[in-house]
Amino acid sequence: MKLVRFGPRGAERPGVWLADTPAPGQASILDVRAMTFDIADYDAHFFTHYGIERVRALLLETQPKLVPAAGVRLGAPVARPGKIVCLGKNYAAHAAEFDSAIPQTPIFFSKATTALNGPFDPIVLPRGSARVDGEAELALVIGRIARRVDAAAALDYIAGYTILNDVTDRDAQREGQQWFRGKSADTFGPLGPYLVTPDEISDPHRLRITQRVNGQTLQDDSTQQMLFKIPFLIAYFSAAITLEPGDIIATGTPAGIGSARQPPVLLRAGDVVEIAIENLGEQRSPAVAEA
Ligand code: ZN
Repeated sequence: MKLVRFGPRGAERPGVWLADTPAPGQASILDVRAMTFDIADYDAHFFTHYGIERVRALLLETQPKLVPAAGVRLGAPVARPGKIVCLGKNYAAHAAEFDSAIPQTPIFFSKATTALNGPFDPIVLPRGSARVDGEAELALVIGRIARRVDAAAALDYIAGYTILNDVTDRDAQREGQQWFRGKSADTFGPLGPYLVTPDEISDPHRLRITQRVNGQTLQDDSTQQMLFKIPFLIAYFSAAITLEPGDIIATGTPAGIGSARQPPVLLRAGDVVEIAIENLGEQRSPAVAEA
C-alpha cells in the first residue's frame, strides 16, 4: 500500500495512491478522510492506533471515494514527525569522498522537522547559500514505540519506507561544526512521494538508489552498500532514545553527491533534482532562489 498526503501545503489530506486506476496510465487517490471521520492525518496518533490496517480495510469498501491524481499536489507522506534522525557516512564510498574516515559506530545527526517538503515542491535556495546539493536516501518511518529493541525484531517497528532528499548547505555544514543548521533550512527535506508499507518491500537492503540533476546521473548505487544496516540502526539508537510512531530515520547517502565532484555540481535556480529508489517511486524537485 502506498500512503500519500495530498492537497495544498499545510492542508494536506491522507490518501492512498492507486496506480492504473481507473485505467492503465492513470492514477487515483483514495480520499481517506472522505470515507472515515477518525483518521485526520498520517501522524503519530494515526500510527499509534493501527491506522494502517484501518486504511487497508477502506480499500475493500464497495464505494471508495476516489480523486483523480493528475494535477494534485503531494505533500510529505508523514505529518509532523517527532524527530528526523539522519545517518552520516553510512556508505563507505561516500565516506571516502567526504573525509575518508570510515565510522566504527553510526554517526547520527538531526534535521529539523520544519525542513520537510513535498516530493515535487521547489527546494528554496536560501539567500547567500552558494553550496547546496542533495543526498538520495532511503528513509524509514517508525510505526510503534521502540525502546531497547532487539535487532532481530527491529523490522516489526517499521510502518513503511520512503525517499528523503537530505538537502545540505555545505558551507553552513562546515562552518557550524555541528551539522544541524546546514541540514535544516526550510524545504531541505523533500519526502515521498509515498510511504510504502513493508509488505511491498521484500528487502530494504537490495534497492537501487539514484540521484540525477538536470538529467545527469550523480548517484547510482544499491542500499546493499550501507555500512550499518537498518535492524542494527534501530537497535543501537533505541537502546537509549525512544523512537516514536511517525519518527523518520534516514539511512545515509551513497557516493556521488554534487559537492564532492570535480568540478562540483551545486544547485542553482532552475536546476531539477530527481531522486528515485526502486519500488518507492521518484521525486522531482526544482531548485528556486529565495524570493
Ligand atoms: Zn544525508
